[in-house]
Amino acid sequence: MIHGEEDYGAVMDDETRCAHYNSHLDVIAIKFKCCGRWFPCRKCHDEREKHEAETWSDSEFLTKAVLCGVCGAPMSIDDYLNCDNKCPGCSSKFNPGCANHYHLYFDVGNLSKEQIRPERTR
Ligand SMILES: [Zn+2]
Ligand SMILES: [Zn+2]
Ligand SMILES: [Zn+2]
Repeated sequence: MIHGEEDYGAVMDDETRCAHYNSHLDVIAIKFKCCGRWFPCRKCHDEREKHEAETWSDSEFLTKAVLCGVCGAPMSIDDYLNCDNKCPGCSSKFNPGCANHYHLYFDVGNLSKEQIRPERTR
């Protein structure tokens, strides 16, 4: 259980890091559209479930399908995509590398790159 939500997958700690992604920034869980279950990552889902994972379409981005593993605050997908890799609730930083995997969870095809990944030069 993660903050009251039943969490599946190879979770390693109570901030939702898993066997696949476990840097100090990997602290979110995502609810999958196909089964309504929370997983730390797509690999966790695919290892545990037999079915094909479904992605959320952009008309469903107001669904609260992302959870901050640090404070437990649920976020809508829209909030998450626009939070600048920082939890709106507790300001914990999220892994910006997740942007490379958004398409595994969300149907971000219709969004412009700027909306998905606020431009930030290091
Ligand atoms: Zn599923
Ligand atoms: Zn995983
Ligand atoms: Zn938080």
